[in-house]
Amino acid sequence: MSAALAERISHEARARFAVRMVGSTPVLEPVLPVPFRVYFTTRLGGGSVGAFASMNLDHRSAGEDSAVDDNRRRIAVDTGRRLVSPEQVHGLRVVGAAEYVAAERGVADPAPCDGLTLNPMLDGDLAAVLLFADCLPIVLCGEVDMAVAHGGWRGIVGGIVQQAGAAMTGPPGSAVIGPSIGPCCFTVGQDVAGLFAERFGEGVVLRPKEEGGPPRVDLWEAATLAAGEMGVPRSRVLNPRLCTVCNNDLFYSYRVEGPVTGRHACVAWTGAA
Ligand SMILES: [Zn+2]
Repeated sequence: MSAALAERISHEARARFAVRMVGSTPVLEPVLPVPFRVYFTTRLGGGSVGAFASMNLDHRSAGEDSAVDDNRRRIAVDTGRRLVSPEQVHGLRVVGAAEYVAAERGVADPAPCDGLTLNPMLDGDLAAVLLFADCLPIVLCGEVDMAVAHGGWRGIVGGIVQQAGAAMTGPPGSAVIGPSIGPCCFTVGQDVAGLFAERFGEGVVLRPKEEGGPPRVDLWEAATLAAGEMGVPRSRVLNPRLCTVCNNDLFYSYRVEGPVTGRHACVAWTGAA
């Protein structure tokens, strides 16, 4: 299982990612400067069954409570951290992980957010677990802290990457893009293509050669440009170029499977493991 994952990482990025096992699930871990730790989970090796098989980490999945609890426990044990999974709403809000936990303790429903910052001084006992099935995970690392964000097309056009960078204590110096729907598969309507072209230039839109076919958007390139606006050079954006639609055997895909499916995660924490 881990060999299949390793083989599909783009050749350019292969040396900068490790594939390792968390319990029985293979995960993809980029090589990052100390003290930043991140990995992307796969759908393999967990305890969920049916449409959710098998490493579903979304506790909002109907009928999946005990399997998801068990799957999440494996991440908590591996990281040695308490897991924080905010309600994600395709918005632009980014908050500190400990701040989110404090809000969770203080009120029944803390405001949703689509990004968390992790500072070793403030959030060292926490691991951010953001959930995905085609949307784009992005991690920004700076001198002191890091940010992790959930980028659907609305978030990326709206500026979630820039919001994540701005929420950090200093400018980010490197970024990681996780498994997500690729330019091979992300067909969109003309309206969405137009929004991306307006915001990031025609380079992020792939127009079909034949008249009438749907355009495709390159979310990976848009996120790379967005990170660039925050000061991250292209050479310091790690991207395994793993499309969740093309690799539906390894990852969950809303496009392929519809609303009843699981979620894989971007797991991020700071400090020595
Ligand atoms: Zn694809």
